[in-house]
Amino acid sequence: MRNLTVNGERLWASLMELAQIGATEKGGVCRLAASDLDGEARRLFIRWCEEAGCTVTIDHIGNIFARRPGRNPELAPVMAGSHLDTQPTGGRFDGAYGVMAGLEVVRTLNDLAYETEAPVEIVAWTNEEGSRFSPAMVGSGVFAGVFTLDAALATRDNNAPALTLGSELERIGFAGKASVGGRKVGAYFEAHIEQGPILEAAGLPVGIVTGAQGQRWYEITVTGQEAHAGPTPMPRRRDALVGAARMIDEVNKIGHAYAPYACATVGFVQVSPNSRNTIPGRVFFTVDFRHPQDDVLSAMDRELRAACAAAAATQNLEVAVEEFWRFPPTPFDPELVGAVREAAQAQGYTHQDIISGAGHDAVYMARVAPSAMIFVPCVGGISHNEIEDAKPEDLTAGCAVLLNAVLESADGDAVK
Ligand SMILES: [Zn+2]
Repeated sequence: MRNLTVNGERLWASLMELAQIGATEKGGVCRLAASDLDGEARRLFIRWCEEAGCTVTIDHIGNIFARRPGRNPELAPVMAGSHLDTQPTGGRFDGAYGVMAGLEVVRTLNDLAYETEAPVEIVAWTNEEGSRFSPAMVGSGVFAGVFTLDAALATRDNNAPALTLGSELERIGFAGKASVGGRKVGAYFEAHIEQGPILEAAGLPVGIVTGAQGQRWYEITVTGQEAHAGPTPMPRRRDALVGAARMIDEVNKIGHAYAPYACATVGFVQVSPNSRNTIPGRVFFTVDFRHPQDDVLSAMDRELRAACAAAAATQNLEVAVEEFWRFPPTPFDPELVGAVREAAQAQGYTHQDIISGAGHDAVYMARVAPSAMIFVPCVGGISHNEIEDAKPEDLTAGCAVLLNAVLESADGDAVK
């Protein structure tokens, strides 16, 4: 493992200059996918890449690839990147950090006149956030074959349905000519702020991301009987809300039972008729379960169904538990995760393994290429917020780890 460092001040300066594009009064960034501001950020990124000697390619969904050649042009490139779009009240680091860290890797290699064996590509994926155009992670999703190109281009602006992602990419000049995906990627690395509180609480500059959580979403309908709140004695009631309340408490207990990695959330509840003097006859609510292991999610599933059946039985209610959506857990490539860990060790950065609770472009890339991620702490664990913040020294640490892990793939694996 090599032990090279990066220019942290240059990385920080580029992040701050990029954050001017779409800067908000509260110190955040609003740079929605395929907006004028997104176009401006993309053009700045491309200018920097070309100044660093890279050749830029844009594909049909607007993904940008900036290639620094290697000794052997036949080898599949090693990629590092993330996204340039933000949430409406987004911060300066979510996405931007991964792209600028990729750029800093290339700039450092240039400083050292370092020739890698395989080419290195910096990538900026289109519409990771999914805020203006839903769903999220569309550029990497089309690249990985999760979505078709036509469906992605036809996605409508959530607030202006006459506009599509395709028409807006065309308008800002980023409907590129290259076909999407279908080519070999040697390795994909993504550096990102953690967006959670774990690294900051542990006082660690670097997280070795071993994978992303799986998710199971449910819709649950509890049916009892509406009746007058006054004349109906307690033993005769079939109160759907009492049943639902006990089920919701059980959901929370299931989450705690599989701590620390499990998450269990009820975030949406509808009571009908929702009248203060009528016993609720029907309750609809959602459940969001997350865990990095599929067998644990299956156990949580069984416990959820058993708890709902038991709560319904004691209240003389009916309950329907429907699985609405599922996303399998994504373990990252063990060899690449190992390279990230060794790079952190070689640099002397304290670190821990961590699971990503959020979706990232790397989660889709893991379907078509060996992939791994590097997390750095963010202040208070807060992101998708204008106050999102990160320390320059942590950003530098994550970028140095990225550089050495990229070199391990671009030289080490390529030479084998
Ligand atoms: Zn992001």
